[in-house]
Amino acid sequence: MQRRTKKKKKLKLGRIIPVLLVLVLLIAGLSWFAISGHKKKSASSEGQKTTLTSQNSQGSSDKSSSDSGLPDAKKADWNLVLVNRDNLKPEMNPELTTIGSIQVDSRIAQATSEFLAAAQNIDPSEHLISGYRSVAYQTQLFNQYVENEMVGGAGSVNEGGPAISKEEATKNVQTYSQPPEASEHETGLAFDMSTVNSLNQSDPSVVEQVAKIAPEYGFVLRFPKDGMASTGVDYEDWHYRYVGVDNAKYMVAHNLTLEDYLKKLPE
Ligand SMILES: [Zn+2]
Repeated sequence: MQRRTKKKKKLKLGRIIPVLLVLVLLIAGLSWFAISGHKKKSASSEGQKTTLTSQNSQGSSDKSSSDSGLPDAKKADWNLVLVNRDNLKPEMNPELTTIGSIQVDSRIAQATSEFLAAAQNIDPSEHLISGYRSVAYQTQLFNQYVENEMVGGAGSVNEGGPAISKEEATKNVQTYSQPPEASEHETGLAFDMSTVNSLNQSDPSVVEQVAKIAPEYGFVLRFPKDGMASTGVDYEDWHYRYVGVDNAKYMVAHNLTLEDYLKKLPE
């Protein structure tokens, strides 16, 4: 009798082990399929409302699926184009869509409308101030700022001060506006949005709340308080830049400016 039971047990084990093996393989296969499927999905329909929800709910699986969580992005991606004083770009002529009183690159029109609506849920006075600017317009704007600084005009760094040289005035202007071909506004991927019509005058708690939800729509507050070293631009509470949902979330989570982030990406 005893011998028979032992034999039975051996038989059972012999059957169970291959079944367990098959199960383990099946689970491993299924999770790989789910992860790669999700990645494809988020890459193909980034920026659309439906994806935002799916990305939010599956955000945790993204993190566990790769070591660094670095998005599958390249320096040459259209939404990561870098325009600053070290990276001048002649007129880009983006295809434009009008939203309220501003124009943006048509590819971010939907994301812009959705982000604006979400910001207005936080504070109804949130509004779009300035979007796409041609290089010609930026030239005109920059020159006006310089002239205003030279005479110590209203809103200038030199407000109420004595007359200063053009060189000094230009330095002042560069802390809040970019010279022609150096402004992100020419990409159509950036806009100024605030509760008021002047820079850094909005309620900081509102700014904080709006900046916090920005990545869900693919935007980052482009010139953060501690970003001067890499961006060369002082804090701006109103300038948002579209980079795409995955990039924006990564940049904010790791406290990276666009300049910092691009250094991590392949060509
Ligand atoms: Zn701006």
